[in-house]
Amino acid sequence: MDSLITSVARDLAAASRVVALTGAGISVESGIPPFRGKGGLWEKIDPMEYAHIDAFMKDPAKIWQVLILEMKNVVDKARPNSAHQGLARLETLGILKTIITQNVDGLHQMAGNTDVIEFHGNFAWQRCMQCDHRLETRHIDLAQMPPRCECGGIFRPECVFFGEMISPDHLNRSRQAASSCDVMLVVGTSALVQPAAFMPVIAKRSGARIIEINSERTPLTRDVSDLLIMGKAGEVINRLLTEIEKLR
Ligand code: NAD
Ligand code: ZN
Repeated sequence: MDSLITSVARDLAAASRVVALTGAGISVESGIPPFRGKGGLWEKIDPMEYAHIDAFMKDPAKIWQVLILEMKNVVDKARPNSAHQGLARLETLGILKTIITQNVDGLHQMAGNTDVIEFHGNFAWQRCMQCDHRLETRHIDLAQMPPRCECGGIFRPECVFFGEMISPDHLNRSRQAASSCDVMLVVGTSALVQPAAFMPVIAKRSGARIIEINSERTPLTRDVSDLLIMGKAGEVINRLLTEIEKLR
């Protein structure tokens, strides 16, 4: 493990364009449960029943009560952990350029990263499905379910549900970042949700080294990743930073 950390730290310090792809696992140490894996939300509820756009359209009150309110409770309390802070420090050091995140919790920006592509949108805002009026989630009146806009339309989070398209702008910027990096850090993602999981493949084909940080193996581990540092994101990134700071 020690030699792995030292060699990845050297790679990062020497790289000129590092891009990170992050998933729910990076926010676990901030108290936000992931979807899959131990303690994941999917152990309690079925994704297709709650996180698919068809389910939301069919019964928005139910999805608000079970999924959206639950997310609001955890996201409201969450603060960046040492993994988010470490990635912010990597940007300050001039090593990390862009984060492509599948998370909707806003913690990368809160930690200080300035170039964050929110692949699946952001939970901080809601949009009226009738008139497109936007309102911050914290100002939404939760007295009625589903919450409604003044025009009578229903509010929905500005997040991508399963069954919905990724914004073309986010997709283009992510592809661009993936194809122009020399190292991609893939942190805390099960790499099962497409097209996000394809970004490391694009990076690999463009010649980048793919370094995974995850507490478990993923479908990328064998064929796409150059190596996996197995462990908790916060601990691993802290150790990498300690080594990188020594090299400078
Ligand atoms: P996922 O839930 O499918 O997978 C989580 C991954 O993180 C797993 O591979 C797991 O082994 C790993 N992991 C768990 N704890 C870890 C830790 N402490 N350190 C390192 N790795 C750890 O997550 P996903 O791949 O991001 O896909 C789920 C989808 O759910 C995403 O598209 C995202 O939009 C959404 N989601 C977002 C949040 C959030 O915003 N924080 C939370 C849950 C789900
Ligand atoms: Zn409206």
